[in-house]
Amino acid sequence: MRIVFLLLLCIPGLCNAAAQDLAIVDAKVYPSPEAKAVKHATILIRGGKITAVGEHVVIPHGVATLPCTGCIVVAGFWNTHVHFTEAKWVDAAHQPAEKLAQQLREMLTLSGFTTVVDTASIPDNTVALRRRIESGEVMGPRIYTAGAGLFPPHSLPYYVKDMPPEVLAQLPQPNTPAEAAAAVQKNIAAGADIVKLFTGSIVAPGNIVPMPLAIATAAAATGHEHGQLVFAHPSNLAGTRVAMESGVDVLAHSPEELDGIDDALLHQMVARHMAIIPTLKLFSRDSNIAQIRSVVFKFRQFGGQLMFGTDTGFLTDYSVTEEYRQLALAGLTFRDVLAMLTTNPAERFHVSKEKGQVAIGMAGDLTVLSTDPATDSLAFTQVRYAIRGGKVIASKP
Ligand SMILES: [Zn+2]
Repeated sequence: MRIVFLLLLCIPGLCNAAAQDLAIVDAKVYPSPEAKAVKHATILIRGGKITAVGEHVVIPHGVATLPCTGCIVVAGFWNTHVHFTEAKWVDAAHQPAEKLAQQLREMLTLSGFTTVVDTASIPDNTVALRRRIESGEVMGPRIYTAGAGLFPPHSLPYYVKDMPPEVLAQLPQPNTPAEAAAAVQKNIAAGADIVKLFTGSIVAPGNIVPMPLAIATAAAATGHEHGQLVFAHPSNLAGTRVAMESGVDVLAHSPEELDGIDDALLHQMVARHMAIIPTLKLFSRDSNIAQIRSVVFKFRQFGGQLMFGTDTGFLTDYSVTEEYRQLALAGLTFRDVLAMLTTNPAERFHVSKEKGQVAIGMAGDLTVLSTDPATDSLAFTQVRYAIRGGKVIASKP
């Protein structure tokens, strides 16, 4: 197996077209969060897309095989809340490719993430990183980025204030709706795919400043005009209300201050088709973590959509174990969590026809586990391979 696998490892710069055909053999497959598992299945990927899944798949001559007895295969995971803001990403345009690939493995792909959503960073830098990944030079996940997040006037969060002055100067704090629209346009011109608003900015512990509704509304409308999703960091009731009323699509965190976050409000959010990324690890040491979990579970019960995300990059400890542990404590089943990792974000990003399931015609984006999530809520941490478009982009020895 080791010999076969070595043949699949790409040499950066040379592997782009070469390894997009792959057969994963004798695995247990969960085709989707709802579907029954298929045992002893072979998944055939040709030209980066899945062309066959099942027990009796014939592997064409010359296609590399990945023997996978005992593996569990699911669609490639999404992490819908990350940041490329640590110093090690600076000058991504010129850093050695293998250094970037190693950093991507440590932060993301070794945890199974084949698609990530960067919910605020320095746009030119993240776009340069993405360009090098998409060219095949750097092995990494598909990146969607918000570019620069928008903050309320004169209200940067306390936890960004240690950033270098030249970085702080680039953080938009629009004073008017017109300035907000212009800030969104600037991000779009730089290559951003989504909008990120700090509708509740934590300027000091215990002091949350909401974004003025007119500013949030103008920013969200500009994003929507360009077909973009709008994410918000809500923090508390006021920030959640601004998000709801301005037309935000996704809360990038559960609210963390829960005064006034009641069932009626959660029902209103569901009625507006909003999604929540719980980021429970971030709050796991807060005294009200049990209440935050309960808000997340109720939102799901009321029909709301949850997406998986960890705030990795802001959190510099990349372990995802605590997030999965908290989601299980919240009462979510492994099928709920699998939907958060796959079909829910694919649907939200309008790519359900290409991503989120292990099925014919879908992209060959797969996460391969060594433990079955049906029997262990932490199995999603046991990643053996991350495969993107038929290429193994991360593997655990
Ligand atoms: Zn974040």
